[in-house]
Amino acid sequence: MARAQLPQERILKTAIPGPKSQELLARRSEAVSAALGMSIPVFVKEAGGGVIIDVDGNSIIDMGAGIAVVNVGNSADAVIERVVEQVHAFTHTCFMVAPYQGYVEVCEALNRLTPGNHKKKSALFNSGAEAVENAIKVARVFTKRTAVIVFEHGYHGRTNLTMGMTAKNMPYKEGFGPFAPEIYRMPMAYPFRWMGDPKKCADEALEYITHKIEKEIGSKNVAAIVIEPIQGEGGFIVPPKGFLPGLAQYARDNGAIFVADEVQTGFARTGDMFACEDEGVIPDLITTAKGIAGGLPLAGLTGRAEVMDSVHLSGLGGTFGGSPISCAAALGAIEMIERENLAERAREIGAIMEHELNAMAAKYPVIGEVRGRGAMQAIELVIPSSTEPNSAAMQAIVKYCQGKGVLLLTAGTYSNVIRLLPPLVMPEHLLREALSILDEAIAAI
Ligand SMILES: *Cc1c(COP(=O)(O)O)cnc(C)c1O
Repeated sequence: MARAQLPQERILKTAIPGPKSQELLARRSEAVSAALGMSIPVFVKEAGGGVIIDVDGNSIIDMGAGIAVVNVGNSADAVIERVVEQVHAFTHTCFMVAPYQGYVEVCEALNRLTPGNHKKKSALFNSGAEAVENAIKVARVFTKRTAVIVFEHGYHGRTNLTMGMTAKNMPYKEGFGPFAPEIYRMPMAYPFRWMGDPKKCADEALEYITHKIEKEIGSKNVAAIVIEPIQGEGGFIVPPKGFLPGLAQYARDNGAIFVADEVQTGFARTGDMFACEDEGVIPDLITTAKGIAGGLPLAGLTGRAEVMDSVHLSGLGGTFGGSPISCAAALGAIEMIERENLAERAREIGAIMEHELNAMAAKYPVIGEVRGRGAMQAIELVIPSSTEPNSAAMQAIVKYCQGKGVLLLTAGTYSNVIRLLPPLVMPEHLLREALSILDEAIAAI
């Protein structure tokens, strides 16, 4: 069933977009809601390794992995084989109607791979937002409390509850309210833009946050503290050492559930299976999705068994959650991540990206900061010799790279961050080529 690997080359046969993509773009405008955005205006024919091939035959270097989803690459053999086998066996029964082994095996894998050696249990859902929603449901039942602590620059999804938890208004929240109550946003330890001494950012932020919680909410009312160990959509904000352990400790001391939203950082992306491992933080609950199943829709909620078991029978579930096809894909993807040690590969990719990006930062004052971990690296663009966000530079660089056949993703509360999230199977020559085109783009603007 495995197909031949696509040529791992950047090839431009037409302008971007080419004529066939343009035809489909016109149909898209007619048929698809204008509310949906698009990073690159080409239509995909095939994708694999480090490339996306469009309908005009252009082979584009994929520096986004479908937003940190295809960590194992598109149509990875390990995923294809298990999915095809599963599709032939059965496509759906609903796990709550008639269970199947794949679901249990994915939960076993999540319990084994997530941080901590304590007894854990899991439940599966369709999307990252749904996993976060369920984390809040479980935390509220377990603690019998309601308040949810979230952070500036945080992103947790597009459902009503997760929109309320997400920081950025435009485009995620504008006009979509009212939002759910009992969500409290705290300052984020973001050294580049910290209001005080950047060297004391972790301590100052922790002090400020705990003070705010005590005075404005009351620590006994806090059900959950929810944070991304590295903020994704917010612009790859890496909290300084000590911040996450401090928050986890505060949650422990005050009977709140510490939830790590690892939807974007999970599954080897940062050089560890999960980003929390970097400082040995052990969350009570952990949400996963994006990289879990090689591109099929699946999400997980994993955590302390007594917390996960505190909900009444049939209190959690959903028609499609943990689809047998997605579970088969996840088992293939997880097997490949472990067998091919893609966490190590993420560290290698990260080292190359960091080195090249830092060299660019030394040449181009438009780069205010290079940051990230493993194969999750970003540059924050500023007006030179200030920290003022430079969104125009971000747009110009992305556009230039698109024209040269390199797909880049953006991020950031101020829309001034370029984030690099290549598939972990990208060959080194493609990675270096994409970085040199990025360099050229910055020089050109
Ligand atoms: C993408 C993302 C979500 C939402 O996941 P969906 O599958 O899009 O619902 C939640 N949290 C984080 C950290 C994410 O990056």
